[in-house]
Amino acid sequence: MQTVIFHSTIYGPIHSRRLGMSLGINLMPNDGKICSFDCLYCEAGFNAQGPGKDGVPSRDTVKKQLKRKFEEMKAAGQTLDVITFSGNGEPTLHPEFKKVVEDVMRLRTQYFPEAKVSVLSNSTMAGKPDVFAALQKVDNNILKLDSALPHTFRIINRPVSPNCLPEGVIADLKRFNGQCIVQTIMIRGEFDGQRFDNTTDAELDALLDAYRQIQPREVMLYSIDRKTPAENLEKVSKEELERIANRFRKEGIKVQVNA
Ligand code: SF4
Repeated sequence: MQTVIFHSTIYGPIHSRRLGMSLGINLMPNDGKICSFDCLYCEAGFNAQGPGKDGVPSRDTVKKQLKRKFEEMKAAGQTLDVITFSGNGEPTLHPEFKKVVEDVMRLRTQYFPEAKVSVLSNSTMAGKPDVFAALQKVDNNILKLDSALPHTFRIINRPVSPNCLPEGVIADLKRFNGQCIVQTIMIRGEFDGQRFDNTTDAELDALLDAYRQIQPREVMLYSIDRKTPAENLEKVSKEELERIANRFRKEGIKVQVNA
């Protein structure tokens, strides 16, 4: 069974062509996964693997470990371009997410003031006042919306709550008044005997309508890149991603393709 890929709270830095020097923060357990979604394509595996035994790191642990890492990097003369909250689940589920973000922003300013702080989130907690406030503080709040149609949304993202629907997510994202980045995976395949495809005309029209309502700074389109826990998922090619992006761009949406 595919399981979590991050085994520490602070990971990296790694160099990526797109982001430059990047350091990751995993606010979820090091030995299990906790998420309010259970996406078919999750690189950390399905929620069925369980949350592990370690629990989530305390605010103090994150602060101490990040400070130590920054000091090591400074001593080694390393540079840093981006600090990204992403890991074995949904970072905004951490009970002290807002305080952790405040600590990270402070340490960033002290050690690497040029580095940008990004949060990769599935948007499900964005309606909570403290999460909303924290997501407004970071440089890049990258918020997931994979389908604006309930049936497909529930097949691809498999939200834990039966009440989680795209309408609610879109309403929460509208509250950012355009100060957010929306991230959408383009994907099709079959799971549990059900076919799904979020690249159809009906899906793209619904997404366009959602983007128009949210008015994000930017939309990021991407496709599966690594091993997925579900089989029978189809990777959408870079050429097709570009075609879809152009369809949205024609309607005035700023789109970046990550492939
Ligand atoms: S929201 Fe992210 S962490 Fe959660 S299941 Fe989906 S891909 Fe995995």
